[in-house]
Amino acid sequence: MIEFQNVTKKYPNGTVALDDVSLRINDGEFVFIVGSSGAGKSTLIKLMLREERANSGVVKVNGKNLGKMPRYKIPKFRRSIGIVFQDFRLIPNMTAYDNVAFALRVTNVRSKEIKRKVPYMLNLVGLASKMKCKPDELSGGEQQRVALARALVNSPALIIADEPTGNIDPELSYEIVDLLNEINKLGVTIVMVTHEHDLVEKFNHRVITIEKGAVIRDTEEMEANIC
Ligand code: ADP
Repeated sequence: MIEFQNVTKKYPNGTVALDDVSLRINDGEFVFIVGSSGAGKSTLIKLMLREERANSGVVKVNGKNLGKMPRYKIPKFRRSIGIVFQDFRLIPNMTAYDNVAFALRVTNVRSKEIKRKVPYMLNLVGLASKMKCKPDELSGGEQQRVALARALVNSPALIIADEPTGNIDPELSYEIVDLLNEINKLGVTIVMVTHEHDLVEKFNHRVITIEKGAVIRDTEEMEANIC
């Protein structure tokens, strides 16, 4: 579960990126975070990953109060979350297989386990035949699938995807979100930042809209207030 209680984030230059934001995302949900450029979406994600700290309010992720988390615990906390970026962040001189295996090797998983898990994950994202390709031999959509396999290989309960379709052709973007949708059906919570309204409309999920540092619309709350 992700919980923001009256969270305000002010950068050192005085910009208030989030102003008294409260929201709750339950386990198993698929949530789109939308809003125009500069609205505060990335700041929200950075707070969820403890890349930034709130000036006031409480940020809790999977039961942990991130404001109180000691620095030495942050790497392990981040490894418990599957993170997908707009620019894929694959290691260029490594094959698709090694990019995914790397995420396991850093956590000292045994090689037998790696040999079993990596092909399984690449198969899940539809890339079994491209395991030996390096990122520059793959399309944008395929690179993002590798990144998704890497995010999933440690079996996270939560995936945070920041504009995962930002560098992909529109036709392939749908496939990536569809894949996230399938992963969500397996019980994984998905938080996806996007500004692609067409894509959001194709999937019937909760949409949180942020503008000028505030939540201005949340489809879940609207549903709750119908009667
Ligand atoms: P979005 O992801 O919706 O485009 P951001 O969270 O990146 O929005 O930015 C929200 C506001 O905070 C913007 O006004 C932006 O200029 C500002 N901002 C973001 N990061 C920093 C930073 N490191 N220092 C100062 N201001 C920042």
